[in-house]
Amino acid sequence: MNYPEKINNYTKSLIQKHGFPISYQVKKQDSENNLTDSSFKKGSIDPTFEEKYHVFSNIIHKFNGRILVFFTNQCFCHCRFCFRRNRDFFTQQTPGKILTNLKNYTMENPDIDEIILSGGDLFSLELKTLRKILKELGKFKQILRFHSRVLSFSPSSLTDEIISDLSQIKSSWFVTHFNHPSELSPASLKKIRKLRKAGIPLLNQTVLLKNLNDDAIVLKKLFLTLYKIGIKPYYLHQLDTAFGTEAFNVDEGIGKSIMEFLLKELPGGAVPRYVKDVEGNLHKTILV
Ligand code: SF4
Repeated sequence: MNYPEKINNYTKSLIQKHGFPISYQVKKQDSENNLTDSSFKKGSIDPTFEEKYHVFSNIIHKFNGRILVFFTNQCFCHCRFCFRRNRDFFTQQTPGKILTNLKNYTMENPDIDEIILSGGDLFSLELKTLRKILKELGKFKQILRFHSRVLSFSPSSLTDEIISDLSQIKSSWFVTHFNHPSELSPASLKKIRKLRKAGIPLLNQTVLLKNLNDDAIVLKKLFLTLYKIGIKPYYLHQLDTAFGTEAFNVDEGIGKSIMEFLLKELPGGAVPRYVKDVEGNLHKTILV
């Protein structure tokens, strides 16, 4: 499968400073084309079974009360472990068309409480387009949940104007994605302080990755730091079985023992839920 390397200049500078914990997440590895575990073969293209839940090309309605919306399939960098790395099952549409579909669909389905802006990374869009989208999204009555790696890969893209736009939205959550403490650079910390000052509540999700954070001490440091700076660790994800990501997989037993350690060592608010996607379950399956 063709999933080219993409590393922006900011991330290259982080690699120069920290080396492995950053490069491992974004540098293409020879091992990506090896396939030994049958579960990775089975789930390879669409490991979270999203394709059958498309209600429009760019809108997925998989879980009750929540929908996922994609305004772009582009990201700042290509995470090598990304579960959507092999997907091309939505065609790019204009933001106007996506917003119209979103408006119509949420009107027809009043039980939808939350709209999740998922990756591709909305915040990688050109500033003018992004600001227009945020303005229109602010008119929706649903809770908006923004998932982004902008603070890991391009903190300068989160400008004061965008933070101000986000602060105008009545009900929103911003979900960061930090996998290792070295991603918390001075530039990203500065933006986190600004988001907090603007009153935007922050959550973090982390993917459990072999040789990076399958280590209780590393995750303790990450979650405690996040908690201290005002980001609630929310999910620790078991890796989804996308083709090319098998080398990152951590045995669930190891994940569970790390969680046991974290439960003993960390304040309750700093401990995320350890979850995975299971076919047929219409919610995340909680492992711990
Ligand atoms: S930022 Fe998210 S969607 Fe984009 S490549 Fe990384 S994990 Fe995948």
